[in-house]
Amino acid sequence: MPDSIVTVMIDKQACDRCGSCCMQGGPALHSQDLDLVCSGALRCEHLATVRKGELAFQPLAESATPVAREFLKLQGRSGSWTCLFYDDAAKACSIYQQRPVACGLLDCTAPEALLAITGKELLTRFDCIGDDDSLLSLVRRHEEGCPCPDMAAAETGLQAATGRSSLLEELTRQVNVDLGFRNQAAGMRNLSVAEELFYFGRPLFQLLMPLGIQVRESSVGLELFMHQG
Ligand code: SF4
Repeated sequence: MPDSIVTVMIDKQACDRCGSCCMQGGPALHSQDLDLVCSGALRCEHLATVRKGELAFQPLAESATPVAREFLKLQGRSGSWTCLFYDDAAKACSIYQQRPVACGLLDCTAPEALLAITGKELLTRFDCIGDDDSLLSLVRRHEEGCPCPDMAAAETGLQAATGRSSLLEELTRQVNVDLGFRNQAAGMRNLSVAEELFYFGRPLFQLLMPLGIQVRESSVGLELFMHQG
């Protein structure tokens, strides 16, 4: 979440429906939101998996930190952080009556209620994928065989003078393993990008880009590189 919400907290006495909270990232889902998924109010293409270890902003935090455990959140819109369900013209939530519990608690002038549930009873994709879903076993194998790397260690390693190229080679290998699982899923089912975000989270190469890594295509798939500083 960008710094601006911290400024908002300082400046405001009460919620004036500015929409800042909805434009700074959809909320995490909690166990109380499972009914919204089961009823179809929220579908898998509305949800994104944030995997354990990814860098993410906790509510009201000023910097991204590795997440301690996996959770689901509402997807953003058109590559932005703005929540999929935010109606710009009306400056309102388009699913107000069926919005996640965190949205009902968020008040940037009084964040205590939201902070009290942050990180607790988080919903994950495994709560929502049915046992009969043909992708379930592949999703489990992906999580087991291609976990999110330790981002803090990767960042430190990439900044070090020695060992950077072997680390890049290893991360390149992991990135292509990650893509292999996604290609396998695409072969089993015609997954949209939005559905892939739910089943597998963001591709590993995208997670690594904030660390200064760049990507190019090569004969063996994607290749990671960094411009020397
Ligand atoms: S679901 Fe509604 S209230 Fe919640 S972040 Fe999205 S637009 Fe805002």
